[in-house]
Amino acid sequence: MKGITQRHRTHTVDISWGDHHVYIGGHHPVVVQSMTNTDTADAIATAIQVKELTQAGSELVRITVNSPEAAAAVPEIREQLDKMGIHTPLVGDFHFNGHKLLLQYPDCAKALSKYRINPGNVGGGKRREDNFAQMIEVACQHDKPVRIGVNWGSLDHDLMAKMMDENRARAEPWSSDELMRAALVRSALENAQRAIALGLPENRIVISCKVSMVQDLIAVYRELAATSHFALHLGLTEAGMGSKGIVASTAALSVLLQEGIGDTIRISLTPEPGGSRSKEVIVAQEILQALELRAFTPTVISCPGCGRTSSTFFQELADDIQSWLRDQMPIWRQQYSGVEDMKVAVMGCVVNGPGESRHANIGISLPGTGEVPSAPVFVDGERTVTLKGETIAKDFQAIVQQYVKERYKKHE
Ligand code: SF4
Repeated sequence: MKGITQRHRTHTVDISWGDHHVYIGGHHPVVVQSMTNTDTADAIATAIQVKELTQAGSELVRITVNSPEAAAAVPEIREQLDKMGIHTPLVGDFHFNGHKLLLQYPDCAKALSKYRINPGNVGGGKRREDNFAQMIEVACQHDKPVRIGVNWGSLDHDLMAKMMDENRARAEPWSSDELMRAALVRSALENAQRAIALGLPENRIVISCKVSMVQDLIAVYRELAATSHFALHLGLTEAGMGSKGIVASTAALSVLLQEGIGDTIRISLTPEPGGSRSKEVIVAQEILQALELRAFTPTVISCPGCGRTSSTFFQELADDIQSWLRDQMPIWRQQYSGVEDMKVAVMGCVVNGPGESRHANIGISLPGTGEVPSAPVFVDGERTVTLKGETIAKDFQAIVQQYVKERYKKHE
């Protein structure tokens, strides 16, 4: 893989629903996952959002299971999805009462394809061990994989207290950051070993240690990769909103993925008011695609524009093409092969327009200020037609559609 350090070897975890399997770890491509923000007890609203996330490209979807009503709704959500032909495996997110819900609602335990357990949120002392053991036993009984998902916001208090005592006894005590990072890793690995001792095989365990700061995340996952072979779920927790959340997640995950660390990713963006939940899926895909780890949608290369572009036409065309390509993908994926690798250039003027367009599969160089109002189109490096007038956008789309039809036709 271009520029990527050798992939860290992990156990492959099979997460399935019926005949539909998603593999995390081993040599399998990095999996994109997401989480709903509907009330799980509202089975219809949750099923609709799972469908939307799936259509955006989420390969696993997590739902919170936080109450008896939510647990009771899980089988219905699964049924609704099956009826819609959506076979995406569902992951149940459990905190505090997961041990009770999994035992009291066996149909919920069966309908989920994986359980996320936060060892910091399963009670304290002896209760903690019993509750954790109960959840692992249910996973073994139903043959479900588990993610041991540690989070710095809910780190196991007993473990932290013990490690603080150990730290005080050190000749050179660790800083609070170092201590927190070490505690996250230790909590994840000790609980994974406990799960193994309870009968859950290594290839049924995924681990995550989420923090909200980029450097902490990188340090923690490097340590996890150096000391274990569990499949790793990557994500910056509480990444934030808008560009801040996207940039922080991208910065952290890119460093790790480039080092071959990470088997599945989730981008924890706070949605903008009225914004789509699917944004987190698109960002996850774009990170993987930018690193050339996976390809999902044709790439649009567009220049930033400058004083040479006198109108917003070129920005609108770049935006229209980007959205149109994304909208076509569910159909194109079925009909054509390799179309996700296509590169489309939309350039604002003659300075770099023809050059960049020649390097793309298809490119258009729009007229800048003072240039002749015509837009040459390049296909596979050759100048083909020149578009003019009001219908440039539509004509260009038709050229792209025709190119896809001819170039990416599936061979039976
Ligand atoms: S291609 Fe032309 S419009 Fe686009 S940034 Fe370069 S000079 Fe400006």
